Amino acid sequence: MRILITGAAGFLGSHLAERLLLEGHEVVGIDDFSSGQRRNIELLAQHPRFQFMEADASRPLQIEGPLDWVMHFASPASPPRYLKLPIQTLLVNGEGTRHLLDLSVEKGARFFLASTSEVYGDPLVHPQSEAYWGNVNPVGPRAIYDESKRYAETLTLAYHQARGVSTRIIRIFNTYGPRMDAEDGRVVTNFINQALRGQPLTIYGDGSQTRSFQYVDDLIEGIRRLMEVEYPQPVNLGNPEEYTMLQLAELIQELVGSKTPLVHKPLPQDDPRQRRPDISRAKTLLGWEPQVPVREGLSRTIAYFRSLQTSAS
Ligand code: UDP
Repeated sequence: MRILITGAAGFLGSHLAERLLLEGHEVVGIDDFSSGQRRNIELLAQHPRFQFMEADASRPLQIEGPLDWVMHFASPASPPRYLKLPIQTLLVNGEGTRHLLDLSVEKGARFFLASTSEVYGDPLVHPQSEAYWGNVNPVGPRAIYDESKRYAETLTLAYHQARGVSTRIIRIFNTYGPRMDAEDGRVVTNFINQALRGQPLTIYGDGSQTRSFQYVDDLIEGIRRLMEVEYPQPVNLGNPEEYTMLQLAELIQELVGSKTPLVHKPLPQDDPRQRRPDISRAKTLLGWEPQVPVREGLSRTIAYFRSLQTSAS
């Protein structure tokens, strides 16, 4: 297959591209490096079937040749990043999704949208199944991301219904692993890098809020399986094991072997209190569930960030 991936220099886009290249497919990667990393593209460029175009995925793209899939993974995704790039985030999920759906129509390609558990906002239902409509503040700070992804989902389904495009939507819950951007401000990268540098771990609020953490390889396997199934409704992909931020901090301290203290910082506005996926749909539809235990995934991620520190020093 010949597959277009937007956000190919990003954490998830680069892992997805690598998996598809290793399977023998051709990948056309798009990124403008607004939140992606050049080192991820340098890795992919070693594959002979990888082609890269530096371009903004919110604008129409001219792609020569056939395409079997258009996979839209371009978007700032960590809260500090989308708060820094508010208009770009809205555009890449709004206009970008529209142009890429038009490209799918033009090429007769299938379309795959990377959506997010943020569509559930600060959920009032726990765990979150795809049937839950969410609790999003449309004028709060996270709305930039949450509402644009909600719109992207609606647009994707509309193209499926009105234009007959074969579409997929995944709602990705917190995912971690090698190739995350150390500076993206997410909790896993912050804690690991703080622990490795011997700095205090920053707990926002009292640290009792929860998230569930999925290792990147599990997510990529779920994506790969969904590509093989004709199913336009959203599918949650995440690890249902739930941790408080205090538990996560302790686990990372233990795995890094560092005793740096914890410092409390203010909780950001509208920070969701609890988040855990109900993955029944993915289990039934795809026979999928996460395989990598959090300890193991975190150890691999710590090893990656350690190797970056060593190569920088
Ligand atoms: N968080 C924290 N310390 C940090 C970064 C984040 O306690 O250094 C908290 C944050 O307030 C949130 C959770 O960790 O409750 C997950 O934050 P992240 O930005 O990773 O992703 P989110 O799920 O909020 O999009």
